[in-house]
Amino acid sequence: MSRRPAVLGGPPLLADPLPMTRPTIVADDELFGHFGAIFDSGMLTNGPAVAEFERQVAAYLRVDDVIAVSSCTTGLMLVLRCLSASGSVILPSFTFMASGHAVRWNDLRPRFADCEPDTFTLDPQAVRNCSGDDVSVVLGVHTFGVPSDADELAQAAAARGAELIFDAAHGLGGRYRDGTRIGSKGLAEVFSLSPTKALSTGEGGLIATNDPGLAAELRLARNYGNPGDYDSRMIGLNARMTELAAAIGLRNLPLLDATLDRRRRLAGRYAETLATLPVRLQRVPDGTTPVYKDFTVLVTDEEFGLSRDQLAAALAAEGVSTRTYFDPPLHRQRAYTESAAQLPVTEMITRKCLTLPLYSHMPFDLVDRVCEAMALAYAHRHEIAATMGDER
Ligand SMILES: *Cc1c(COP(=O)(O)O)cnc(C)c1O
Repeated sequence: MSRRPAVLGGPPLLADPLPMTRPTIVADDELFGHFGAIFDSGMLTNGPAVAEFERQVAAYLRVDDVIAVSSCTTGLMLVLRCLSASGSVILPSFTFMASGHAVRWNDLRPRFADCEPDTFTLDPQAVRNCSGDDVSVVLGVHTFGVPSDADELAQAAAARGAELIFDAAHGLGGRYRDGTRIGSKGLAEVFSLSPTKALSTGEGGLIATNDPGLAAELRLARNYGNPGDYDSRMIGLNARMTELAAAIGLRNLPLLDATLDRRRRLAGRYAETLATLPVRLQRVPDGTTPVYKDFTVLVTDEEFGLSRDQLAAALAAEGVSTRTYFDPPLHRQRAYTESAAQLPVTEMITRKCLTLPLYSHMPFDLVDRVCEAMALAYAHRHEIAATMGDER
């Protein structure tokens, strides 16, 4: 390879920097027509678009009930509130902060458990081994869109007398090994529709459940706890989805499966092209259908000759944006420092995980460019490592 890496003074591979992600939202005359109808009706919230979106998502997921909310964060907060959870909640530390925040907002204690080293999802054995006799809920996460082992987690939760719920922020459209959609397991699964997710309504969330009692509580809770007579029955929130957000969802939901198909083909292209480089891919359990909310690899010094951060810097110089989710993990964030959890797998993954660019309408040749930038860094790894010195 005669080309010089940009980090060593060569020209960058990409003149226009490639973002890590960007939303794919169809906004056409059909959608704008719906917006017009909503404005004409004067009903910007609590209207028919949200109800129809909930009905369509429930049919897509094949679950009894879907409750649309303002975000995944508020959805998780309300699920924990409506379960009347007490004591502590077992959850992974390798997740987005909102998973933990929902626990703390309910004055519950987070107990962080380790994740599996290859799928990055909550390890059922770690749930069994986690200390604490006051655990009322286990909160799993479908990390980067890889379905958790929900059946094993259900057994681990049941053995402790705890309910199982999921932060399914990354999971809309994925399928478990038995073919059912993410959304159908545990007592409730909560999706996010924020802009980095595969289906976005700007901001928004969806709670899926087959428990009619919980569904009724959640509908009350997202509306201040007010059933309509202004005599609140609980300390709820305003966590409603707007009619405009629901209209975006209604227009884009029918396109989701094709979108996810494309994401899987982009991920397949990455896997194929990266096969010649010593990086490890997140494992997708056999028979499951992942979402590829993100395409994430593990980079180790010993194998790649560069640390994760050195590779990220080399890629940034080439115009390739990456992210280092979820570093620092929750138990080491300043808002959580009271926890002294021992989480060796989480510590390893957070230091070595690198998320590469992937968005639904990303051209395939840009996947090739990213891989080329990685191969270039690998070919010059000794020189790059020497230049960067101890920056790891
Ligand atoms: C994005 C995300 C959330 C938060 O979703 P919002 O809709 O922004 O509240 C929660 N958990 C995980 C794992 C996420 O990635």
